[in-house]
Amino acid sequence: MSKTNKTTRKCFVLAVANQKGGVGKTTTAINVAAALAEDGKRVILVDMDPQGNASTGLGVGYDARQGGSYSLLMQEKPAIELLQPTEIENLSVIAANTELVGAEIELVDEEGRENRLRTALATLAENHDYIIIDCPPSLSLLTLNALVAANGVLAPLQCEFFALEGLGHLVKTIDRVKKKLNPSLAITGIVLTMYDRRNNLSELVGADARSFFGDDVLETVIPRNIRISEAQSYGQPVMSYDPRASGAASYRALAAEIKRRTA
Ligand code: ADP
Ligand code: MG
Repeated sequence: MSKTNKTTRKCFVLAVANQKGGVGKTTTAINVAAALAEDGKRVILVDMDPQGNASTGLGVGYDARQGGSYSLLMQEKPAIELLQPTEIENLSVIAANTELVGAEIELVDEEGRENRLRTALATLAENHDYIIIDCPPSLSLLTLNALVAANGVLAPLQCEFFALEGLGHLVKTIDRVKKKLNPSLAITGIVLTMYDRRNNLSELVGADARSFFGDDVLETVIPRNIRISEAQSYGQPVMSYDPRASGAASYRALAAEIKRRTA
């Protein structure tokens, strides 16, 4: 592609959200970001979870997290100065440090507190194709900031009992945000994660999700694959850790599907 083509491309902001913990948000944020970067897209991952798992999963150590998404919300520094490179070409990260826990309370009296992230990220849109936001496991002000900043939501769904109920809350929240704060917000997709073909429950919940949410459920399914979780403990996406793993192939397919939906 020519250079001019690159600079005219629009940046898509994707929030990876689900108020339930342990459903695969961080894993999905890391690996979708890495797969898009591998495909030549210029990608930023913003870690909005005070636990900082996405930062760890991309090899950013605790010592290297000064500022990060906390400074972004507090408008302490321009966003461009908070970007950190990763080992993956085209992928940078805005890390999360523990200060982020306090951001919510510090912002409680601030006017426009739910627009902070949107404003801060606007300056990065010109030079990037995707900004992926990893949300914390709650529908807190941090998640709200992500939903206001986003063009689309990617909701990982772990195929377990009560999974759909939780998703209902998220969909209601998205609707409220659409009405009041961000009219163009859309559900980019719901992705079934940690899917186990040998387990009937996976199949049942998957079928229920498809009958309830229809086309919002993405075709790609992410299998339970040990290489995916191993990769994180080495601070790598599964694409780099084991490019031939089934998990790597699935996340590449997911990124391709997301690319089509956000084109
Ligand atoms: P969340 O961000 O929603 O809390 P995580 O992405 O941290 O969830 O995933 C929870 C745990 O499950 C992590 O230990 C992660 O390594 C593991 N995990 C996530 N997806 C998979 C998968 N497809 N196969 C195996 N383990 C997975
Ligand atoms: Mg997480």
